[in-house]
Amino acid sequence: MTPHSLRMDVEATDAGSQSILSRARESVAGGESSTMRVLPYHLPLVIDRAEGPYIWDVDGNRLIDLNMAYGPLIFGHRHPIILDAVRQELDDRGTILGFPHRLSHQVAELIKKSVPSIDKVRFSSSGTEVVQTAIRLARAFTGRPKIVLFEGHYSGSSDAVFHKYHASLDELEHAGSLPLPGTAGMLAPQRAHLLPWNDADAVRAYLAEHGHETAALIMEPVMGNAGVIPPEDGYLAAVREATRRSGTLLIFDEIITGFRVARGGAQERFGVASDLTTLSKAMNGGMPVSVVGGRADIMELLVEGTVFHGGVYSGNPLGLAGALALQTEYERNGTAIYRALEESANRLASGLRELFRRRGVPVLVQHVGAMLSLAFTRRGGVDRVRNYRELLGVAWSERYIAFQHASQRRGVYFHPNQFEPWYVSIAHTPDVIDEILERLDGAAEAFDWSGAS
Ligand code: PMP
Repeated sequence: MTPHSLRMDVEATDAGSQSILSRARESVAGGESSTMRVLPYHLPLVIDRAEGPYIWDVDGNRLIDLNMAYGPLIFGHRHPIILDAVRQELDDRGTILGFPHRLSHQVAELIKKSVPSIDKVRFSSSGTEVVQTAIRLARAFTGRPKIVLFEGHYSGSSDAVFHKYHASLDELEHAGSLPLPGTAGMLAPQRAHLLPWNDADAVRAYLAEHGHETAALIMEPVMGNAGVIPPEDGYLAAVREATRRSGTLLIFDEIITGFRVARGGAQERFGVASDLTTLSKAMNGGMPVSVVGGRADIMELLVEGTVFHGGVYSGNPLGLAGALALQTEYERNGTAIYRALEESANRLASGLRELFRRRGVPVLVQHVGAMLSLAFTRRGGVDRVRNYRELLGVAWSERYIAFQHASQRRGVYFHPNQFEPWYVSIAHTPDVIDEILERLDGAAEAFDWSGAS
């Protein structure tokens, strides 16, 4: 990207953000506690306060947030239903108990009601932890060592599954079916095999040969870590059928899609049930609560203690109070909530397509429920991509980053990494969507479309 590819009419100030980040870098490695928040191509942005769909930075700029904390804020920032419940819990029982309490079963019962494939759950704090437990359960239940991972999918950073995040085409070609280690300091995920996603034949062929030694397949049922890519018609059902035949468990990592693409997640939307499911984000009201849940006969291994799962903060009442407030609201108003989310996301997706069509700029907008992704394509009109490799083949990431910078300066924040979805919340009402589109139109107007290479 060349800096002069942006022709800015509006220059927002970021002196305050810059100064805080440079001070933070003195004591916090990299200035923040997740690398994804301070990528080298992030414009400085330090937040002072937030409300509904808006964030204000320390320099006083107001932005509309389409990142929504990477998904959990499905009711928007500081929703009173969540805040009141958490405050009440603080007043009643404090921060943590270290004993059983009734919030556990109250939240669990509502989750079971929404996701019928789940008979029993365990709570943890992060997605990484519950995926780790799901993999252990699968290996212990089947007595088989191998697992199958999918290109472009992310299921947290545990050594069991963390493979090279956003690997290049070269790296994928070179590694073949071996998942590359996700980070220095770990070995490649052990006994794991990497398959392309949305390719039922690849799954069938693999299981025909290796099913007898394969404990589980784990996938995001809608790809949400490499843009938003929907499953092809019949793909999930074909995978379900193939896994059932070979006695291999199917794990849906619904940490992004659960309670987002439908109340019952992708498994409700596409009508395919998994054996085990992981949930977090739009399940928890913004509190650090995650879930592994599934068939009673598999979860029984936790009851017996054959498989270990613990955690000081697992199922802590403060987090569950937030989750219960959100779950109760889904129970009360689910139909209206998902209708509103769907309408706002449709409005944003069609507005984006129209905005770029008018300017003759080729883009790919993919969307499922309240999550969508935008990619600038190098080779003109592409209507859809099926998997991570196809996306890599067409996406123009430098242009995306440059346009993200222009949009951020115009008051709309979405993540500068093109693989991160845009998250719509119920605070993104039609008026807010229209303001987003107007601001993005302003950014597009000021943008030098011949540059950004
Ligand atoms: N699975 C998926 C699908 C995710 O998107 C994420 C987080 N982005 C995780 C697992 C890991 O969750 P956590 O960061 O809470 O460990």
